[in-house]
Amino acid sequence: MKPLSLYIHLPFCSRKCLFCSFVIAVGQEHRREEYVRALEMEMEHHAASPAGGRAAQKLHTVYLGGGTPSLLDERHLDVLMNAVRKNFSLQENAEITIEANPESVDIAKAKFLKRQGFNRISLGVQSLNDRYLKFLGRGHDAPAAVRAYHCLREAAFDNINMDLMYAFPGQARDELQRDVRALAHLNSEHLSLYTLTIEPNSKFYASQMKLDDDEKLADHYLMIARILQEHGFAQYEISNFAKPGRESAHNRNYWTGAPYIGLGVGAHAFDGRRRAWNTPRLQDYLRRMSQGMSAVEGHEDLTDEQLVMEKVLFGLRMNEGIRWDMVPFHKRGRIEAWIRDGFLLREGERLQATERGRLVLDELSARLI
Ligand code: SF4
Repeated sequence: MKPLSLYIHLPFCSRKCLFCSFVIAVGQEHRREEYVRALEMEMEHHAASPAGGRAAQKLHTVYLGGGTPSLLDERHLDVLMNAVRKNFSLQENAEITIEANPESVDIAKAKFLKRQGFNRISLGVQSLNDRYLKFLGRGHDAPAAVRAYHCLREAAFDNINMDLMYAFPGQARDELQRDVRALAHLNSEHLSLYTLTIEPNSKFYASQMKLDDDEKLADHYLMIARILQEHGFAQYEISNFAKPGRESAHNRNYWTGAPYIGLGVGAHAFDGRRRAWNTPRLQDYLRRMSQGMSAVEGHEDLTDEQLVMEKVLFGLRMNEGIRWDMVPFHKRGRIEAWIRDGFLLREGERLQATERGRLVLDELSARLI
């Protein structure tokens, strides 16, 4: 049986970062209570469904993402986590992650999160260069990020991820090098790498900003990977690096096609065949929950071919790659050509992307579908 994950979306943010295109709610803090109640109802609804309930499969991972989940105060987080425990069974040693922004973490909050049973924190640092933090419209500066990190350590968190963003227009190589070294030096267990992209519903999109060329970004990507490796982080996915044994179990479940439950506004769920998504509008989500309706707005049933291709494409993003026999026969000719061109490597029964292949994997994936 494949591991089961639970994702809960908390959309509240105190401001909108200029690059952000996630489902968020700014200036809606007064709705937090109502939202947590709605999540409780959605959990109860799920528990009462044929697939749900405490008797059903135990959760391997729980992930509170957003938005800024750490903006919920202690009372709301308490209610939320009690509802999770009441409506689901958790495996022993389940990975329980909460995303946090540096400005919403102090020592009291860090200790509270620890007491609540979170055992992994994903800290939205993005950069330790104040110029770029300002450019991104973040609500913290570098000293605040470092302070938040140390508060988490003081509260005995031993599994911390930090997000690192790069590819800012005009970003110099040595500037990025300093940023990566400073972040790596903090010595977290995990680092997730994000390339700045200009998404249609972000504030950057309206400004028609131009990004730097692909060649420069490829050089910067390889430099980051090298620095992180020097600091003991092993790359295990195209954008993710971890100390030994600290890979994200939650993300791994996504990448290996395992099922997940998604709760909250805009959340997605997958049962191994059907992908479903909740309404992305907060008001609509709250209305549906208050009327005892489903939050699901749409779904798509994946064909056998789509399921196989998802496993192949996600699998190639991971360093461990995939088994050769997972590649459908009618795609093997193209894959063999990419092996000859040095983008992929076949060793025995394993197929992996090479360093060169990782730089163009999105393009290869698009051509393969
Ligand atoms: S904190 Fe995260 S979710 Fe909120 S606006 Fe910024 S990037 Fe978006």
